[in-house]
Amino acid sequence: MEKALFLDKDGTLIKDVPYNVDPKRVVCYPDIFKPLRMLQKNGYKLIVVSNQSGIARRYFTAEELEIAFSELRKQLMTEGIHLNGIYYCPHGDRASDMQCICRKPLPGMLYQAAAELHIDLKKSWMIGDILNDVAAGRAAGCKTILVDRSQQERKKDRMEDPKFMPDFITDNFYGLTQVITLEKEYYE
Ligand SMILES: [Mg+2]
Ligand SMILES: [Zn+2]
Repeated sequence: MEKALFLDKDGTLIKDVPYNVDPKRVVCYPDIFKPLRMLQKNGYKLIVVSNQSGIARRYFTAEELEIAFSELRKQLMTEGIHLNGIYYCPHGDRASDMQCICRKPLPGMLYQAAAELHIDLKKSWMIGDILNDVAAGRAAGCKTILVDRSQQERKKDRMEDPKFMPDFITDNFYGLTQVITLEKEYYE
């Protein structure tokens, strides 16, 4: 069984441009490269899990989205980082939409990735910029880190709800390696 980092995309790995699929506007945060490279070297699979309701809203097609994902893969590859999987939820969140099991805060994408890529969820981490990412990770039994770059998400009332409470909060990716490495020594 493998261990993994489940990574939100928008606002976590790349700058959040709502509903963007233009590869020219896929811009990685520069602080992600070193931590991801190091954690990958330490045996973590890197798996993107992303809500993409723009498909349900017909803002873009799955093919257009794939082009944006290819761009992300390419930029990471240039930095020596290989994504082991990309999972996305194409469904919407409006009342008229069919309720799915994969849209975060639900844990469906994490369960699917765990089954397909032989991931031990208990040894894995969910990393994201909003509390819905944290909730998905918690529901799947992962440890969670909120990367709260703007320091706004941590002020939300629902963070007091155990469902949404991250194990750790960091302002950026630099704090991440230390948290995960120290935790590993503690548990194993
Ligand atoms: Mg996000
Ligand atoms: Zn879904």
